[in-house]
Amino acid sequence: MIFTVAIDGPAAAGKGTIGRAVADRFGFRHLDTGLLYRAVAVAGGDPVEAARHLTPEDLQRGDLRTLEAGRAASRVAALPEVRAALVDFQRRVARSEGGAVLDGRDIGTVICPEAEVKLFVTASPEVRAHRRWLEVGGDAGRVLAEVKEHQCDGN
Ligand code: C5P
Repeated sequence: MIFTVAIDGPAAAGKGTIGRAVADRFGFRHLDTGLLYRAVAVAGGDPVEAARHLTPEDLQRGDLRTLEAGRAASRVAALPEVRAALVDFQRRVARSEGGAVLDGRDIGTVICPEAEVKLFVTASPEVRAHRRWLEVGGDAGRVLAEVKEHQCDGN
């Protein structure tokens, strides 16, 4: 069975938590697409080449969920060639046998416009900043400022 659940929304709104729960409930694969940009960012070298040669194993690295990797991911995610190079990887997962849940800000619009189910998850900047802070720690005020700064682009 081919079945895609697309979860869009701004950073730290809870897309990943909901995505994992839905995937577990239905036995679907789950792809947190932010990890792709993080893996490209930490790979070093030319990010476009890293995006073209990304493998599922690259998403298993232990250092992808840090604040630094997130910031670096935002920078490489701004490169159209990187985004383009990651489209096929994401669509392959989305249309793989057995069903898949993908979360990320462009999943329902750009990557999987034909997804069978589309969800949009959001929360207030304060709640999102708190979630992000629990993940990365550091200065809570700065995390809130960053969340507010990137509200419109979903970063
Ligand atoms: O969601 P996460 O914080 O892991 O994403 C890291 C960065 O990757 C985001 O800040 C955003 O810039 C980028 N990203 C993106 N498109 C996605 C997922 C993430 O541009 N679908």
